[in-house]
Amino acid sequence: ALFGNLSDRLVDALGNLRSKGKLTAADIDSTVREIRRALLEADVALPVVKAFVAHVRERALGDEVNRALNPAQQVVQIVNDELIRILGGDQDRKLQFAKRPPTVIMLVGLQGAGKTTLAGKLAKWLANEQHTPMLVAADLQRPNAVTQLQIVGDQAGVPVFAPEPGNGVGDPVRVARESMRIAEAKHHDVVIIDTAGRLGVDEELMGQARRIKEATNPDEVLFVIDAMIGQDAVATARAFQEGVDFTGVVLTKLDGDARGGAALSVAQTTERPIMFASVGERLEDFEPFHPDRMAGRILNMGDVLSLIEEAQRAFDEEEARKSAEKLARNEYTLEDFLKQMQQIRKAGNFKKMLSLLPNVPKELKSEIDNFDDSALIRIEAIIQSMTPQERNNPKILNGSRRSRIARGSGTEVRDVNDLVKRFEMMAKMMRSAARGENPGMPGMPGM
Ligand code: GDP
Repeated sequence: ALFGNLSDRLVDALGNLRSKGKLTAADIDSTVREIRRALLEADVALPVVKAFVAHVRERALGDEVNRALNPAQQVVQIVNDELIRILGGDQDRKLQFAKRPPTVIMLVGLQGAGKTTLAGKLAKWLANEQHTPMLVAADLQRPNAVTQLQIVGDQAGVPVFAPEPGNGVGDPVRVARESMRIAEAKHHDVVIIDTAGRLGVDEELMGQARRIKEATNPDEVLFVIDAMIGQDAVATARAFQEGVDFTGVVLTKLDGDARGGAALSVAQTTERPIMFASVGERLEDFEPFHPDRMAGRILNMGDVLSLIEEAQRAFDEEEARKSAEKLARNEYTLEDFLKQMQQIRKAGNFKKMLSLLPNVPKELKSEIDNFDDSALIRIEAIIQSMTPQERNNPKILNGSRRSRIARGSGTEVRDVNDLVKRFEMMAKMMRSAARGENPGMPGMPGM
């Protein structure tokens, strides 16, 4: 999975906040520590981690969380915001096209980063967007590079400009310059130049890239980086920034078991936007990069949403507390019962309420544990078929009302009778539990 491990760790860290009503400074500190550890283990560069954590901490301790209805949810929001920020902000950066075609896109990066593959992906994507791209083989270092570009060009259905074979070792700068003329003549509105990479950063490589850049005056220089290179990401990106400079970043191999460090470090340290992501070996495995969506994937928003629900449950405690108070005052009605029934399916709210009462009989606890979903659905239907007066005062439920309710809820009169009897029994047991030995109801906060 994309950022699998980092994702799990972040979700866990935030998960520890769930069901906490108010957050203390200690809660926030321990969460922030977890986030820090998760980022470092994902190979995110230390300065980036430090800044990230400091921002989250500062905001989490601030007013916006204090005032939030649901503080845990608010912290999740903050972490999400900060992820978006370090991935480049919520403004997607689009490719810049030249006012006068051809638009020139030059690809730079280490050998094996995925430049040639990317050239094909980009060409195919642009062709789909009604452009007429041409690929240029300016990687004349690697013996196979030209052939490989021709293969991806064929797959993408896009022509490739390359030096004639047998011409010995060509001059990539000349090839690049020549390609401009061809593109204009053949009405290609975009030229994608694949350049040579080396296994490591070196001056000759940078020099060549710089000369190609000068010769073609590209609209975009995209730095292609393998997301799996981990801690080296920042140093490599800096070297290319100083050596050639680039306008945007493309992350490749995000489908691998990437720890995500490169993704999270590069945009921030180079102040260049991540523009595309490559997520597999096929030409279709390619997508424009959206910081907000990527943050969502890293935080695993699906999981975080359930976390938020969980936090929401904590909020329902307030409801449970109110019910317990009503019970003590003998004001608990079928209407309250219905509300609790509806919550019982999404939360352990009823049980929560019982736990707030001092002397709950064992029979009552097991009664509640034994409710199954179909019984709950039937009970809901019955109560929903009652009028407000009936819900508030079940004593008025005579025979004709009961048969009307049974018809309305698609149940039998027997079921209605059963429910009313059970409700009365439960209400009675709960009332005496609520009163307990102490009328002040010890253990009930806020009373
Ligand atoms: P270049 O040296 O920078 O031109 O890199 P290549 O385009 O030749 O890619 C190097 C290797 O990485 C090739 O085997 C590609 O198939 C592979 N590759 C490129 N992009 C991706 C990607 O997004 N995911 C995966 N899994 N492999 C990729």
